[in-house]
Amino acid sequence: MNYDFSERETAFFSQIDELMQSLAEAGDSDRGDTGAVGHRLRHALKRLAETPYLKLGLQAQEGLDGPSLMRAMEIVSSLAPSLFLSVEMSARVFGRILSTWGNAEQKERWLAPLLKGEIVGALALSEDSLNVENEPLKTKAKAEGDAVVINGRKQYVVNGPVADWIAVAGAIEDKNAIFLIEKNAAGLRLGDRIATVGYEGAAICGLSLENCRIRADRVVGRFEPKEGLGKIRLWENQVIVGASLGLMKAAFESAKDYAKSHESGAKPVIAYQEVGFKLAEMLTLLQTSQLLACRAAWTAEHMPEEADSLTLCAKVFCTEASEDVAGKALQILAGAGYVSGNAAERAYRCAKYGQIAGTSTEIARVRIGDCALEKP
Ligand SMILES: Cc1cc2nc3c(=O)[nH]c(=O)nc-3n(C[C@H](O)[C@H](O)[C@H](O)COP(=O)(O)OP(=O)(O)OC[C@H]3O[C@@H](n4cnc5c(N)ncnc54)[C@H](O)[C@@H]3O)c2cc1C
Repeated sequence: MNYDFSERETAFFSQIDELMQSLAEAGDSDRGDTGAVGHRLRHALKRLAETPYLKLGLQAQEGLDGPSLMRAMEIVSSLAPSLFLSVEMSARVFGRILSTWGNAEQKERWLAPLLKGEIVGALALSEDSLNVENEPLKTKAKAEGDAVVINGRKQYVVNGPVADWIAVAGAIEDKNAIFLIEKNAAGLRLGDRIATVGYEGAAICGLSLENCRIRADRVVGRFEPKEGLGKIRLWENQVIVGASLGLMKAAFESAKDYAKSHESGAKPVIAYQEVGFKLAEMLTLLQTSQLLACRAAWTAEHMPEEADSLTLCAKVFCTEASEDVAGKALQILAGAGYVSGNAAERAYRCAKYGQIAGTSTEIARVRIGDCALEKP
């Protein structure tokens, strides 16, 4: 494994950094009205489509691979975490569903415009009670002639209020499949936008489906439950790892800058050894997380049989490190950190999400243990 990024990758990272600096200025963390959130997301997708970013992980891009994507995700997440989550659930999760299981017509119909930044997608997987790690999906579909009728409820759909198409996971006969539901479909009811601790600039809602009838050509894939949902969880977990790196980076940089520039007791606070130790621990966690995240991303492409376990290790480590680093950053900024609107407090609020969403850190630990013991 080569630990250096190539010139091609470095140029790509600069391109993404420059673009995201300008997009982040438009205000990432405002809860804002849903219309404004949707507008900001569409604008960002259009601009990102001018770069290779949206295509990574979905279509081969010369000189760019899994670790390049991980580094690019870190940049986007560090500058605009809410936008990052919204872009990723559309491009990397909704998009991968189509690139992995879609047939040629479905790719042409949905994937091509998605990669051009022309449509917004969402994933509706989680259900009302225990999550999909524990029991079969309660969302059920049944075939009726050349249509499929779907009933069920989903919670916490990122982009739900602004998406053009929602990929709903459900059971059909003894298999699982993804049902592509258009935003105004009869039988689809979107819940109110949910207010969350962090990522308040993303639009999130629950939804219900009551006899929602779609054409059979809007059913993507039919797969064994564990296999299909496992893949979706892997993609979500990769996104969350990238999110955590960005949160850590933003929190660390803001605390470092503040410690050098802010004086307390007639000297910069960096001069206090205890502050320096905190920064050292934060940097160690950030650097360890970056290495583990890139290793997991590389493994997903080159040794897929080990991808699940290593991605879960990265998810547990990076999401817990991000809470720790953000908390330490907030402590260094002290009063200024506790005031709303700075990178450290924003990272602190967002960090918890990573431990809950995707495969929770509890379930992840069980899975990592199972893999270590070679349990099926
Ligand atoms: C802000 C936000 C955005 C989200 N976005 C999306 C989205 O776009 N699409 C989507 O489909 N979902 C989304 N989710 C849902 C997210 O993936 C789920 O919340 C997550 O999977 C946890 O499910 P749950 O809340 O039902 O927890 P539960 O399953 O009810 O878990 C409760 C507690 O029990 C623990 N637990 C449960 N089962 C086990 C087990 N087998 N072993 C050990 N411990 C266990 C959990 O770790 C947790 O601590 C989002 C969630 C949030 C908060």
